Amino acid sequence: MSWFSSVEQGPPIEVFALTKQCTEDDFPQKVNLGVGAYRTDEGKPWVLPVVRAAEKALANDETLNKEYLPVLGLDSFSTLSTNMLLGDDSPAIVEKRAFGVQSLSGTGALRVGAEFLAKKLGKTIFYYSTPTWENHRLVFLSAGFQEARQYRYWDQGKRGLDIEGFLEDINNAPEGSVIILHACAHNPTGCDPTQEQWEKIAQVVKHKRLFPFFDSAYQGFASGDLDKDAWAVRFFVSQGFELFCAQSYAKNFGLYNERTGNLSVVMNNPSEIAAVKSQITLTIRGMYSNPPSHGARIVSHVLNNKELFDQWRGNIKTMSSRIIEMRKRLREELERLGTPGTWNHITEQIGMFSYTGLNEVQSEHMVKKYHIYMLRSGRISMCGITPSNVEYVAKSINETLTS
Ligand code: PMP
Repeated sequence: MSWFSSVEQGPPIEVFALTKQCTEDDFPQKVNLGVGAYRTDEGKPWVLPVVRAAEKALANDETLNKEYLPVLGLDSFSTLSTNMLLGDDSPAIVEKRAFGVQSLSGTGALRVGAEFLAKKLGKTIFYYSTPTWENHRLVFLSAGFQEARQYRYWDQGKRGLDIEGFLEDINNAPEGSVIILHACAHNPTGCDPTQEQWEKIAQVVKHKRLFPFFDSAYQGFASGDLDKDAWAVRFFVSQGFELFCAQSYAKNFGLYNERTGNLSVVMNNPSEIAAVKSQITLTIRGMYSNPPSHGARIVSHVLNNKELFDQWRGNIKTMSSRIIEMRKRLREELERLGTPGTWNHITEQIGMFSYTGLNEVQSEHMVKKYHIYMLRSGRISMCGITPSNVEYVAKSINETLTS
C-alpha cells in the first residue's frame, strides 16, 4: 500500500531536461543554446567582478548577522530596486506612491504579485503573449488565477511582432483582466514593441481597464542601458497606470541561484499603501515567511555605492556588448553561407534569446545531428554562442535548412 500510487508522472521541464542531456553528451563540439545564462567568450559562467567585490566587503562586515529579514525583505534593497526601475525622478517615487517587496528572484515576484491579485483583488483572468516565458502560465495558475488567455505576439511569417493581432486580442479582453507584459528583451522572441507600439498598447490597456503586470528580467542586460530598458514601465507610470513589476537580478547581476528579486508596486493613492503592504506580508508569511539576505545585500551594497554602481554598469556593458557582437557574427556567417531565408531578425532582436525561425523538426535535427542544444520552438540563447563555435552553429543551421 502506498499513498503515492495515484501520482502520475509529470512532463519534464524542457530547458532543464535539455541541459541535462547536453551535460551527459560527450561530443566535443556540443553547444548548449538552451539555458538562459550568460557565458564568457570562452563559454564559461561568469561571476561579475563587482559581485565578488561586494561579497568580500560583506564577508568582512562584522556588523552583519544571520537574523531573519523582515517578511517584506531588506528595505534598502527594495527601495533601491524600485528606484532603479522607475527612475529617481519618477512621479510615483516623488509622490510616495510606489514601493518594493523583496522576492525570490523574478519568479517569486510574479508569484507573490499574482497571488495577491487573485486572492485580494479577486482577479481570475490573465493574458500572456504567444509565445511567452514558459513559466508564466504555471506561476499564475498556481497562484490562484482561473483562466489563462493569450494575445498574439510573434508573427512567424514576418519574424517580427504581430502588433495588429496583439491590439485586437487585448481589445477583446474582459475589463479588469491582468495582462503580463515583458518590460524589455521579450523571452523567447527577443522582439520588443517600438515606442510608438507601446503607446498604442497603453491606450488599449487603459481603455479596457486591464491591470498591467510587467515582467522585467533583463534591465540593463538587454541594451546595456538601465534607463532604456525601463522605458516601457516608466512610460506606463507616466500615463497614470497602477501596476506591478517583477524584477529579477538573475541576469543583470548574474545572481541566478541567489534568488534575488523585487516586486515593484505602483499605486495611485498613497493612503492605501499600508493596507496593501499588510496583505502582501500575509501572502508571503504563508508562503515562505521571509526571504534570504545574501543576494539582496550584494545588490543593495552595489546600488548604494557610486563607485561600485559604475563598475556594475561596466559589467553589464561587457555582457550586453558580447551578446550584440555574437548576434552580428551569427548573422554574418549565415548570410556568408547563403543560408535560405532572411537573417536580419537575429540582429534586430534584443537580449538573451533569439527566435531563429527554425521549426520543431529543424530544431530537433540541430540537437540530434549537430549536438547543438536548442528549444523545440527554435529559441536559442545567444549567450551560448562564442567566437569559437559561431561558425559551427551557422554551418549547422545552414545544413539543416538545405538538407
Ligand atoms: N521572466 C522572464 C521573462 C524570464 O526570462 C525569467 C528568467 N528566465 C524570469 C522571469 C525569472 O527568472 P528568475 O526567477 O530566475 O529571476
